Amino acid sequence: MSGVSGPDRVNAEPVYPGGGSAMKRAVFIDRDGTINEEKDYLFRTDDFTFIPGAPRAIRLLNEAGFLVVVVTNQSGVARGYYTEEDVHLLHRHIASQLDQHGARVDAWYYCPHHPSGRGSYALPCRCRKPLPGMLLEAAGRFDIDLESSVMIGDKLVDVEAGAAAGCRSILVRTGYGSDEEQRCRSGIEIYDDLLQAAESLLRPE
Ligand SMILES: [Mg+2]
Ligand SMILES: [Zn+2]
Repeated sequence: MSGVSGPDRVNAEPVYPGGGSAMKRAVFIDRDGTINEEKDYLFRTDDFTFIPGAPRAIRLLNEAGFLVVVVTNQSGVARGYYTEEDVHLLHRHIASQLDQHGARVDAWYYCPHHPSGRGSYALPCRCRKPLPGMLLEAAGRFDIDLESSVMIGDKLVDVEAGAAAGCRSILVRTGYGSDEEQRCRSGIEIYDDLLQAAESLLRPE
């Protein structure tokens, strides 16, 4: 399990020279409103509920050979609503639930910062979406080819982070997605949910 624990961590991992065919394709997935039902500042495992089809979507992506990387803004840490340990506990819970569906998240990244947060969490960071820091850090660590990778989320900040990293970016209508759809420029790629989005990636073009 890996989290972005501070602003100085972003891009701290060595970036290996691109290995051509060895580079991996990833699907970066937002957490709240995309994998699980949106609840304000979710951190209790008892409050966690999958969006229908999400475990199956992740399993399909696993089977297709994509690296599955969760990238989630968790400003509740900066605001003092819960701790980084709570984030880790919830991610362990989600991982075990996914395991029961034969699905796996390969890496977890979260941004605990917010400009109006407490102490060091208020420092400007490069990981809070719409900035692409979490995607770039994962790309460096796992030798991910960003151009052939995809970002999926329920907010425009997710789409913007994906685009800033050079990825194909998809909005889903779960969570805040159907509201966000009203505000977005035309031409954005949209699906009803994570399962539909995943299936679109697996169809031959
Ligand atoms: Mg979300
Ligand atoms: Zn951050």
